[in-house]
Amino acid sequence: MRLPEAVIILVGRELVTAAQADETGPRLAARLSALGCTIRARIFVPDSGEILAAVVRDQLAAGVDVILVSGGLGPTPDDRTREAIAEALGSALQRDETAWEAIERRYEERGRDVPPGAERQALSPTGAEFLPNPIGTAPGFLVRAGRTLLFALPGVPREFEAVFTRSVEPELRRTFGSRVAVASERLHVVGLPEADLHRIVTRVVGEESGVEVHYLARHGEVELLLDCRAERPALARETLAEALAALEKALGDRAYARGDRTLVAVVRDRLQERGWTLATAESCTGGLVAKRITDLAGSSAFYLGGTVSYADALKRAQLDVPAALLDRSGAVSGEVARAMAIGCKEKLGSDVALAVTGIAGPGGGSSEKPVGLVYVGLALPGRTLSTRHTFLGDRTAIRSLAAAAALDEVRRALSGLPPLGQPVPAAEGDEVE
Ligand code: ATP
Ligand code: MG
Repeated sequence: MRLPEAVIILVGRELVTAAQADETGPRLAARLSALGCTIRARIFVPDSGEILAAVVRDQLAAGVDVILVSGGLGPTPDDRTREAIAEALGSALQRDETAWEAIERRYEERGRDVPPGAERQALSPTGAEFLPNPIGTAPGFLVRAGRTLLFALPGVPREFEAVFTRSVEPELRRTFGSRVAVASERLHVVGLPEADLHRIVTRVVGEESGVEVHYLARHGEVELLLDCRAERPALARETLAEALAALEKALGDRAYARGDRTLVAVVRDRLQERGWTLATAESCTGGLVAKRITDLAGSSAFYLGGTVSYADALKRAQLDVPAALLDRSGAVSGEVARAMAIGCKEKLGSDVALAVTGIAGPGGGSSEKPVGLVYVGLALPGRTLSTRHTFLGDRTAIRSLAAAAALDEVRRALSGLPPLGQPVPAAEGDEVE
């Protein structure tokens, strides 16, 4: 099955130099994918008719199914998209009367005179279809050139989206909708380095499966985006379901949720099943764990709050970590992580307390305690746990991996799973509830 391919061309010097971040391209990706189109390329072009004409000509010659041009349709002389597309097609520009009436009407509605240059916005290449702009003055147009559908849309992202929804999407659905069905799902994975994950995914979901897998690494976790395209919707769904089931089996408890569910939502559910509350005591993550928990709306139902106890003095004062323990083991140790959790549970009055202490770098590491060494402490009703983790990366990566690992240890402890980190046994005489 050959899938329709789309090329997105974004016009504007500010987009080429990245002075303005592209808002249109990223939003378009998911919408085109849902229509069964794959994106062949996203191309940035300055406000130059010559360069745009050359790029459009190349794409037409390559025979792509869909070309989407964004921007350069305004009334000013630097808006060269109409001329450039006409040149690439080898056709003339002519005035579209329906487009012109729509432009006149829009200015009239706003009680404004039609500005000089606005007539240019009613021009389109011979044979083009006018695409009304429901929220702005610059209309778009569609040209059918051989097998290619070429759309030109206004650049303002809101206007682009409005014309896309109103005219482009229905046209693509008519043209390609019956050809291909798409099924998509997301799978959230935590506690597995990306290279290992990649190895498992390639083994389980081979190229011949018809399922495409994309990796999205963020917040110290990896999200797998699975897309399956097939001739029929039922076939796409079934193939996707099989791949998902096989992946979940291979990944075991590292795959914790599908769809929109977050790690914190899973932790919330496990806590709420027992009616338990959570508090946090953070050192190297500086509040990142608390931030992730409170990103979830409604987290006040189970989360009491936390401390950022960076200095030893604060670990003693806020969390009752014994001075002797800090002296003996150092602030970055399994013993202190456990003591921080115990103190946090006690002082903040929660059922469960989570503590993190580690070395985020770039400085402060030693051969004994290298950068990336992190301990996670947990105090639960009737038991405590302390685990050792090592992470690779810069300061930002280490902190975000540490926050994810800490939340994951809570999920694992509350799900009856063994910890992922290396357990640090409680020392003789350590306070254990
Ligand atoms: P106008 O009639 O407003 O001139 P236009 O079709 O000519 O419309 P542009 O001039 O290319 O569009 O862009 C209009 C505004 O929208 C500019 O401020 C531009 O920076 C912004 N813009 C254009 N494309 C994008 C994009 N992909 N992402 C974010 N902003 C964009
Ligand atoms: Mg413009």
